[in-house]
Amino acid sequence: MTSNDFSSARLAPRHDLESSSAATVSAGPGPGPSPADLLRRLRARGAVDPVTHVERVPARVGVPAPWPSWASAELRAAFTQRGVVAPWQHQAEAANLAYEGEHVVVATGTASGKSLAYQLPALATLLSDPRATVLYLAPTKALAADQLRAVAALELEGVRPACYDGDTPRAEREWIRRHSRFVLTNPDMLHHGILPGHAQWSGFLRRLAYVVIDECHTYRGVFGSHVAHVLRRLRRQCARFGATPVFVLASATSGDPATAAGRLTGLPVTAVTEDASPRGGVTFALWEPPLLPPESSASSSVPAQTTGGHDGATDLIQVRRSALRETADLLADTVAEGVRTLAFVRSRKGAEVVAASARRSLDDAVPGLGDRVAAYRGGYLREERRELERALLHGDLLGLASTNALELGVDLVGLDAVLICGYPGTRASLWQQAGRAGRSGQEALAVLVARDDPLDTYLVHHPEAIFGAPVEATVLDPANPYVLAPQLACAAVEAPLTPADLALFGDGAKEAVDELVASGALRQRPTGWYWRHRERPEVDLRGEGGAPICVVESSTGRLLGTVDGGSSHFLLHPGAVYLHQGVSYVVDDLDLVDGCALVHTEEPDWSTHARDVTDLSVVSVRSYVDAGPVGMFLGEVDVTSQVVSYQRRRIATGEVIDTRPLDLPTRELRTVAVWFTLSPQSLARAGVQSADVPGALHAAEHAAIGLLPLMATCDRWDIGGLSTAVHPDTEAPTVFVYDGHPGGAGFAERAYGTASSWLRATRDAIAECGCETGCPSCVQSPKCGNGNSPLSKPDAIRVLDVVLANLPA
Ligand SMILES: [Zn+2]
Ligand SMILES: [Zn+2]
Repeated sequence: MTSNDFSSARLAPRHDLESSSAATVSAGPGPGPSPADLLRRLRARGAVDPVTHVERVPARVGVPAPWPSWASAELRAAFTQRGVVAPWQHQAEAANLAYEGEHVVVATGTASGKSLAYQLPALATLLSDPRATVLYLAPTKALAADQLRAVAALELEGVRPACYDGDTPRAEREWIRRHSRFVLTNPDMLHHGILPGHAQWSGFLRRLAYVVIDECHTYRGVFGSHVAHVLRRLRRQCARFGATPVFVLASATSGDPATAAGRLTGLPVTAVTEDASPRGGVTFALWEPPLLPPESSASSSVPAQTTGGHDGATDLIQVRRSALRETADLLADTVAEGVRTLAFVRSRKGAEVVAASARRSLDDAVPGLGDRVAAYRGGYLREERRELERALLHGDLLGLASTNALELGVDLVGLDAVLICGYPGTRASLWQQAGRAGRSGQEALAVLVARDDPLDTYLVHHPEAIFGAPVEATVLDPANPYVLAPQLACAAVEAPLTPADLALFGDGAKEAVDELVASGALRQRPTGWYWRHRERPEVDLRGEGGAPICVVESSTGRLLGTVDGGSSHFLLHPGAVYLHQGVSYVVDDLDLVDGCALVHTEEPDWSTHARDVTDLSVVSVRSYVDAGPVGMFLGEVDVTSQVVSYQRRRIATGEVIDTRPLDLPTRELRTVAVWFTLSPQSLARAGVQSADVPGALHAAEHAAIGLLPLMATCDRWDIGGLSTAVHPDTEAPTVFVYDGHPGGAGFAERAYGTASSWLRATRDAIAECGCETGCPSCVQSPKCGNGNSPLSKPDAIRVLDVVLANLPA
């Protein structure tokens, strides 16, 4: 048998990869195992069936719509030339709303052609009004560059699209400001370059008809809150020049997109969510790797575990076969079946492990077959990425293991199978990744392989949380004072603030301005509030308080990037493995006085996980529910924490190599927390012995943090927790869960708002885990500062039962 037996004839290319259009022609179907047959063969491999659920996602027929009457013949011809025969219903609906002047967000699935929804009204306006301009914002330069190519390819007269970002040569900038009518940029450039230079941009802003915000679901948390104010500053400058642009936003499928887009822009936004593009049916399987026999919990297939004598070295015992190994085997099996497969793996190193392992198995079976599998990661040049995509679409490659570098702006769809190694954090990302599978008119397979953690375990046993639930809302909090105050300072530099501006910047703006006056940053005059300093305030949209730490490569002195002060102890401690644009570095030294970390390139086969100890005090209560023996609270807290050690964990297996101590100073954080208290009597009545209360609360806290991403678009690293049998401020057994960002990013608020469903899911996740005394799938946490001790799994269930029995739904 040779690799030629794996015919590539059926892997005809889907036409027109670069186009963001909808009504494109897809590849013809060919022979090959049906998804159901394929899945049957995959699950028959082991002694235990790893599949916990199979969902059939039916095929959808596309619903085309007529071209809007206002779209000129020239514009239609340009799109037709690029393969768009007609818009789909959702594209036409969003385009019509935007053309009529309504702010609109189109939130539909992967490859549903969202760009046509904004290109149509924006370009039609540029063609009919020779003075009008359009500003397009993307979260990454690469996506803006892809959009530029798409718009330029339409070859429309007088549009002169151009990217304006940090890479734009000085010499071209003035030409762009003066002549381009379709400027593509990112929020950072808008914040650092365009708004401070608004005088030079006055001609462009005065005529601004549309602001397009692509991939707007990426503006979440603290970053999203900053971007929300950058957009308010943009609206303020436009208003000064007499312009009121229409905002058109494109989002991945997300919960309540109208509210999220409204929070982001500060405007009323209409949502279009009914996806009318066609897609093939998908058989979606949830897959839980089997438990390992207890005696071989370190796994016989990996090098001997170095447990050593370090504290905590054995506190995360591998209980299940690793998701990476399971994914690698599945990839090898699907490729051996001749099925074109994409495997999503969270880290680049993980993707390489999966690809290498699959290659090895295939070569063992058929020498040479391993060459049909590759790894794909961020950091490749555009040409290299395109070559890999081409090879996969033409069938030269059959298997690709990738990080989510594919998620943004790369148009690779129509695969026969997608393997998702570990829940990607949100249902929105899950659907985006699964959406790569399935060509029109052809069935495909998607498999979610659960990792050994509470959220993944919960999901594979609760398919309704994936298939029955709406995707989560994008959470951001523009009222965060740690975001609002610096943004108001930036606005004041651009033009003195007036009372009318305070309404624009929303809740808390008056208090923030008062504080800026009190601190001497602003001066109040009859005409408004003025910035008092010569220099502009330094505000990093992606930072979160504290001076940023510069990451410098020791051998060359090259500045790789910056990390905000808040995360630096976690990410840049000595010995940390630090990833930058897909390249791995190891930190030699963290100098907090000079604000820099020295690193060298190195790609060890472990990852590092910092651990901290935490103290917390309650500052104020914003809101609470008094439920008899149970209290549920939302409020401000002060968190004092110190990163004290880090674990090294082997990437391929997750096995803990050792725990090493660190010597870093304590840090203070004022943030927002949600917490619940229980009376000691109610715990006793539920059968929790007083000696077990600390372990019960601690276990409940870990699992609650692990499950919060089910409710909000955060991951467990955005949030922290603390539990105690008696807290001095609450005088009761208490579990706190807090936002890891100064001032809060909306996560704790969301947890409070959805408390009963959040804690219900937490309780079920613990109760349904097959382990006996607690494991990483339920109550153990990879970032616990106490080495996962004490933990009591059965008592955690009792604690949560008491809370749920008393808390109103
Ligand atoms: Zn467990
Ligand atoms: Zn802990």
